[in-house]
Amino acid sequence: MSGRVIPLVDQRLQALGAVLPAQPVRATGLLSDTLGRPLRDLRISVTDRCNFRCSYCMPKEVFDKDYAYLPHSALLTFEEITRVARQFVAHGVHKVRLTGGEPLLRKNIEVLIEQLSQLRTVDGRPLDLTLTTNGSLMARKAKALKEAGLNRVTVSLDGMDDAVFRRMNDVDFPVSEVLAGIDAARDAGLGPIKVNMVVKRGTNEHEILPMARHFKGSGITLRFIEYMDVGATNGWRMDEVLPSSEVRKLVASELPLVPLDPNDVGETAERWAYADGGGEVGFISSVTQAFCHDCNRARLSTEGKLYLCLFAGNGYDLRPLVRGGASDEEIASAIGHIWQGRGDRYSELRGTQAADTGSGRRRVEMSYIGG
Ligand code: SAM
Ligand code: SF4
Ligand code: SF4
Repeated sequence: MSGRVIPLVDQRLQALGAVLPAQPVRATGLLSDTLGRPLRDLRISVTDRCNFRCSYCMPKEVFDKDYAYLPHSALLTFEEITRVARQFVAHGVHKVRLTGGEPLLRKNIEVLIEQLSQLRTVDGRPLDLTLTTNGSLMARKAKALKEAGLNRVTVSLDGMDDAVFRRMNDVDFPVSEVLAGIDAARDAGLGPIKVNMVVKRGTNEHEILPMARHFKGSGITLRFIEYMDVGATNGWRMDEVLPSSEVRKLVASELPLVPLDPNDVGETAERWAYADGGGEVGFISSVTQAFCHDCNRARLSTEGKLYLCLFAGNGYDLRPLVRGGASDEEIASAIGHIWQGRGDRYSELRGTQAADTGSGRRRVEMSYIGG
């Protein structure tokens, strides 16, 4: 890369400096990476903290009371997040998802939502503004989130059985409160609601059918997610991955399914419908069926690093630009330059030497950059 290098201030993880290219990259909405993929979807992590300890994400043994979370001063402020998001939107982003950690733990999150909801896409439309949550605080917050301008939510839920769910969140949180949160989101108009279930072989596979039965006909789309090898702390093993093809066969054995066309390019879930008109169900096969070829997602970490892939080892630190007096055009130019150099496709390379020596070598935690 050529041009002015902005010095790094982050000591926590290895990061790459964002470069201001000698030849500015203007925001035209037509940006594409080295594989011809546009930039359409921005996921913003608003906190690295969580009140759950799902073993596949923030295992208790690692994320204990001594774990060094980011200090508040390191986090981008709401104004900083909105300013950076505006530059992404100018490059063609039309969907923004808030995540974490648990995004509803970030104090006054409604204020950020209000600011983001004012942004307009390149063609003048409001953003598709959404949030992924464990649902634990949803019953309390749904109305305020809707009033602030949030369009819809995705709630993570790994089982209907209270004992299984309490074990999976590992903080003894009852399933009834998450179900109440989903109801509150629906009542507040935060739909269409999606529910994400991570399936781990030997842990919650017996919850697949009860979950399908519960959400069929409810207007809520349940999506089964393959357990992924994100981060470095969950002790991931391939034999704990239950391939989506098997999950689908199991669901269809009791509740017949018919395939649906994708809604959008770059969509992560394969869509199916219940043959009797009971609604939709999705399968996200990040491990067994890579969908990198049209991946248009960027991730912004809690303290302002841009990650080009969920499995990237390094992010590009935008915070020195944001706090160092760079103009909006310069921030947009740096983002454009970074995206133009993107060649990440970890899931397509998984298991090969290129994946082990490339960007996926030293992966960041999912709780840090969000799902
Ligand atoms: N705390 C919020 C939640 O749980 O919805 C948002 C952040 S969480 C990191 C985002 C999503 O990542 C959740 O749906 C979670 O189930 C999923 N996730 C976390 N670790 C995963 C893993 N190892 N494999 C697959 N999905 C995972
Ligand atoms: Fe928390 Fe979400 Fe990770 Fe579970 S998946 S530990 S709820 S951040
Ligand atoms: Fe996108 Fe990386 Fe996932 Fe491939 S592995 S779909 S590039 S986030």
